[in-house]
Amino acid sequence: MKRLTAKRALVTASGQGIGRAIAERFAAEGAEVIATDINPALLDALSGVTTRVLDATDAAAVRAAAAEVGAVDILVNAVGYVHSGSILECDEKGWSDSFRINVDTMYQTCRAFLPGMLERGHGIILNISSVASSLKGVPNRFAYSASKGAVLGLTNAIAADFVGQGIRCNAICPGTVESPSLLERLKATGDFEGALAAFRARQPMGRLGQPEEIAALAAYLVSDEAAFTTGQALVIDGGWSM
Ligand code: NAD
Repeated sequence: MKRLTAKRALVTASGQGIGRAIAERFAAEGAEVIATDINPALLDALSGVTTRVLDATDAAAVRAAAAEVGAVDILVNAVGYVHSGSILECDEKGWSDSFRINVDTMYQTCRAFLPGMLERGHGIILNISSVASSLKGVPNRFAYSASKGAVLGLTNAIAADFVGQGIRCNAICPGTVESPSLLERLKATGDFEGALAAFRARQPMGRLGQPEEIAALAAYLVSDEAAFTTGQALVIDGGWSM
């Protein structure tokens, strides 16, 4: 049975990786999906969804998108940027870029789409955080983890403020997931095979997660089956953080 029939969902960063898998899974579950991304070429490769170029760091563009798209039942925030290094390698730009891309984008989209949800008396927000956040200290992910921890705070605050008005807001915290940007980061080490083996070994399951596995959890969380779940950080990480 399709779980998202007659639901409208907007997904940010859905050109590739986890965001793309979520957009495709939601469409397969019967939702009308508005797939957005900063990169138009990536959106061109999607089918079965409406696409819209959207730079989620552009507050005016986010507000314009909300006005044009109208109310949605589901908002998924999947934009993320990985800054590598400890605090000593993190200059002010690395720090501010991390918060601008990982946190401000979610602030902007939630502020833009929440009023439409409140008018209709229901809405679901799902934010993609990470195990590398306030949940787990991960070496060389200083600004990333700080900003993804902020995503969890933002998620809980929205959940608490609007729980009585039909809004649910949750976060997914993936471990290591095989996405295009992850593969780029592995290549950038100069030892792709070695880095891949090390990243696989982080998970007690001995493998990377797949975007489709994150999308399956996302589909559950935005469906009516999860109607009693809000303000939660759902970990999906092959046992990395256990
Ligand atoms: P990715 O990094 O491979 O792709 C990211 C997508 O975001 C691209 O399509 C890119 O064009 C788009 N994008 C970048 N900046 C944007 C902007 N300003 N506005 C709109 N779109 C923009 O995808 P991924 O690795 O699957 O990561 C997706 C999310 O999952 C991120 O929030 C990331 O932090 C989180 N996450 C990923 C992993 C992992 O191991 N891959 C683990 C935990 C959490």
